[in-house]
Amino acid sequence: MKVFPISVPTPFYVGPVNCYLIVDDPVTLIDTGPKTKEALEALKDGLRRAGVRVFDIKRIVLTHAHEDHCGLAKQLRDEAKDAEVLIHGWETGHHAGRLEYDKHRALLVRAGVPDDEIAAMRRMYEGVRQYADALEDHEHQELIDDSEIEFATGSLRVVHTPGHTPGSCSFMREADRTIFAGDCVLKRITPNPILSPDPIDPTKRFRSLEEYLVSLARVRSLSPTLVHGGHGDAVTDFEELFNRYLRAIRERQAGVIKLVPKEGATAWDVAREMFPHADDVHRFLAVSEVVAHLDLAHTESKIAVELSGEREVYRRP
Ligand SMILES: [Zn+2]
Ligand SMILES: [Zn+2]
Repeated sequence: MKVFPISVPTPFYVGPVNCYLIVDDPVTLIDTGPKTKEALEALKDGLRRAGVRVFDIKRIVLTHAHEDHCGLAKQLRDEAKDAEVLIHGWETGHHAGRLEYDKHRALLVRAGVPDDEIAAMRRMYEGVRQYADALEDHEHQELIDDSEIEFATGSLRVVHTPGHTPGSCSFMREADRTIFAGDCVLKRITPNPILSPDPIDPTKRFRSLEEYLVSLARVRSLSPTLVHGGHGDAVTDFEELFNRYLRAIRERQAGVIKLVPKEGATAWDVAREMFPHADDVHRFLAVSEVVAHLDLAHTESKIAVELSGEREVYRRP
């Protein structure tokens, strides 16, 4: 099971994305890069260096449905004559192009985001969508937690690691406990828990940070020897990263709680206070992060929340 990392450029702030080509039977690609000319060229270049053509790809495995990771999946699938595409079922709404605008909108309203900001976020998201083709239902199969993705000379175990997105998955090579983690584990930055509807009850909010903490603990319990993240260098010392992430999450939580006034504030108020210079996509990421931290703080009984009209208002007890 030979693994070739391929760095693929993206038009996003995060920089290049890591895709992984596994040359074995069947030839498998983990993540594809966004749908841009530059990304496709870089990917084909990487394939060539490994002695593989697009036509040889038999299987595409997606860590999650963000455009920088899944954008070329449909195009490659078609070019490779119906290669199998695997993605977790909780990534619907993205991969099928059925963006749940109404549900997202309700979550943003509840977080106190003003109408004009919601409209701007939607326009921005329309812009991002061009970097991925949607997959129809019959064009992909579901990744099942704890199942094995089989190869002639080994296998990858599917480890559902929700948090960054509800359906984020990692893949562990049993032979040497190497993990491909997508955006669940990034060496230099703590991944953003993105505000999204709960896949089981879309009228509710997905408890992204709480789920993420469970996922981190699960990865830790697998004692990985090496973790390949979706961006940046591989992580050789997961224990160090785990402790660093926990500290960063606790520090951020304390910072968020400190910004909640006695008289109450929405998540949007706190996000604007915490990240006053955030613009464009960063305003959405800022409110996502604050909501995630407020949810966790509420679960831990550190703050109170009540509904005021359509908005949730947080108070420090
Ligand atoms: Zn992502
Ligand atoms: Zn990413």
